[in-house]
Amino acid sequence: MSKISLALSSWYQMQNYNFPWREKKTVYSIWISEIMLQQTQVNTASSYFKSWMKKFPSVDKVASANIDTVLKLWEGLGYYQRAHNIYHTAQTIHKKYNGVFPKTYDELISLKGIGDYTASAILSIAYDQPYPAIDGNLKRVIARLYGVKDSKHIIKESKRYISMLMKNYSPSIINQSLMDLGREICLPVNPKCIICPVKKYCEGFNSNLIDQYTFKKNRKKPPIYDVAVGLIFKNNKLLIAKRKNKGLLGGLWELPGGKLKNKETFEKCLQREVFEELNIKIKIINKIGFVKHHYSHFGINMYGFTCEIKSGKPKPLASDTIKWINFEEIINYAFPKATLKLFDLLNDS
Ligand code: SF4
Repeated sequence: MSKISLALSSWYQMQNYNFPWREKKTVYSIWISEIMLQQTQVNTASSYFKSWMKKFPSVDKVASANIDTVLKLWEGLGYYQRAHNIYHTAQTIHKKYNGVFPKTYDELISLKGIGDYTASAILSIAYDQPYPAIDGNLKRVIARLYGVKDSKHIIKESKRYISMLMKNYSPSIINQSLMDLGREICLPVNPKCIICPVKKYCEGFNSNLIDQYTFKKNRKKPPIYDVAVGLIFKNNKLLIAKRKNKGLLGGLWELPGGKLKNKETFEKCLQREVFEELNIKIKIINKIGFVKHHYSHFGINMYGFTCEIKSGKPKPLASDTIKWINFEEIINYAFPKATLKLFDLLNDS
């Protein structure tokens, strides 16, 4: 066993991070936690994971649920395609594999939403098979630890080095210790080298060249859109529309409205959007206020207005379906985070 493997495993066992998905490890719980942890902070993922396991303790429970229930549980976690993929894969496992997770890399990778990282995480953590699970954190740790400067070869090099660490040692512990190290110690900025269990062996630390082994992404500044949405009431009922299942925020419920075009006012934008989406003309009654929210690739400033119908009968021209509900019933439907913020504004006023 290498000295680095030994140092990592002793540190991992000593730290014993108490995440809910480590309490009772099953293939199912590892899969759900790994999907939730993509693009999500550990603390946020922890609370969603607990609620998820309470509602869906097994893959069969997900498979037999309704997609709306799945999306409601995912509400606020973002990247909703992940929830659609879990739902789709749960049904495949239920039908094709009788509810039992496959154990091979090729079978796992053929499932929707499971790529190289997730398949490797499942195989190593659940079955202790030597599959390095390489994500951004692990790439950073390996680059610094072994002094890899070439970002083009970092995935290949990471696999090679981690496979070496796994030789004669538990792949499950090596992968998880590297995950913990990347998340808690070897941070992108200001890594906590002083308390790092492998600093003695770390090329970046010992040569004082950590920055040279840190790959920076050239991220473009995401665009910000101005959006107007309407709370259209009729007989004390609120009109909501369900987005089509595909695409960003697919399958979620929303308020009618959309992006501002050219130099139109928010009111004009809302009237135009509502006509295009529902074939009705509206009268704007009141401005509720505005909220800001950042999604993965863009941000929005959302302005909300209460409205009533002037003419026409709403038809779902752009959405999957529409519904009239009591305002209190909004808690039964999954909405995007920006819409939830707008509802909060309304509740607080
Ligand atoms: Fe990362 Fe510092 Fe540890 Fe090296 S010593 S692995 S740079 S935290």
